[in-house]
Amino acid sequence: MKKASKTAKCTLCSKKSVYSNQGTHYCRNHFISYFEMKVYKTIEKYKLIEKGDRVCVAASGGKDSTAALYLVDKYCRKNRIECFALSIDEGIDGYRDVSIDGLRAFCQEHGIKLFEFSFKKLYGQTMDQLRETMLKEHNKRPCSVCGILRRRVLNVESRNLKSTKLVTGHNLDDEAQTFIMNVYQGSMAHNAKMGPISGIKQDTKFVPRIKPLYLVSEAETTLYTKLKGFKLSYHPCPHSDLSFRRFIRGQLSELVKILPNAKYGIVNSFLEILPDLKRKYRCSVELRECETCGEPTTQRKCNACLLEEKIHSKLANDF
Ligand code: SF4
Ligand SMILES: [Zn+2]
Ligand SMILES: [Zn+2]
Repeated sequence: MKKASKTAKCTLCSKKSVYSNQGTHYCRNHFISYFEMKVYKTIEKYKLIEKGDRVCVAASGGKDSTAALYLVDKYCRKNRIECFALSIDEGIDGYRDVSIDGLRAFCQEHGIKLFEFSFKKLYGQTMDQLRETMLKEHNKRPCSVCGILRRRVLNVESRNLKSTKLVTGHNLDDEAQTFIMNVYQGSMAHNAKMGPISGIKQDTKFVPRIKPLYLVSEAETTLYTKLKGFKLSYHPCPHSDLSFRRFIRGQLSELVKILPNAKYGIVNSFLEILPDLKRKYRCSVELRECETCGEPTTQRKCNACLLEEKIHSKLANDF
């Protein structure tokens, strides 16, 4: 999959090609249709959204979640399904504040209701404040802290908003990376929770997380948002430099230079074994309520509460 050469013509209408995939060239309009069809087919094939759903889109103002928000909102309007957006400001100066400003403008322009939350209000600290403490005192990388805290806000607040589905902007690249990360770490049980609909066991307290961009690549999503003229910031988060994901992402980028369809190969192979993985690990997962916050977890206390204890012990020591 690559950008089209300067001279290539669209296979479907002979206009100037902007993108090529497996021998087919696409002009701007045909690429947009190809991308949107791929997303809608994913929604329908995996029954991600159905009549009667109340759909909450986790939006950050980044390219992936904005593409997901735009297309899910369009799909829901067409099918008379309720849809709104939820944002979390993790407190990353010069990055999240900028993207959330863009998200507010986007939601206003498209008539989408937006519910806003922030780490500062919910946890008393911003990610910028947490980065050094968690790294130095607890050897925790920023993305793992951010991911745990964000997942809890997403589940709790989307449930409070009576959502039946929570949309995330994860794309094919994210899924291929996560699968490989879990393989390297020997965590096949974590892979069992992945797929177009996340989760391994149903629990009334878990809002099912769905991924309409599951089968589109990051490059395709970037191109789509640019061709649609969405005003977005494409800068990476300043804390991502320390992430394991960034390392795996680099490895996969090298791999696709010699094996262009490697990410599709990884995700398609994963989808083949996913039903077996879910069967295997479903029985070994025992969900219970966290003794501190009551959220579903496999441990006595959920990861977010364990992290919060660390955050508050630091605050108490400082005081
Ligand atoms: S890159 Fe890491 S720290 Fe930055 S928003 Fe994503 S998960 Fe959070
Ligand atoms: Zn065309
Ligand atoms: Zn808890």
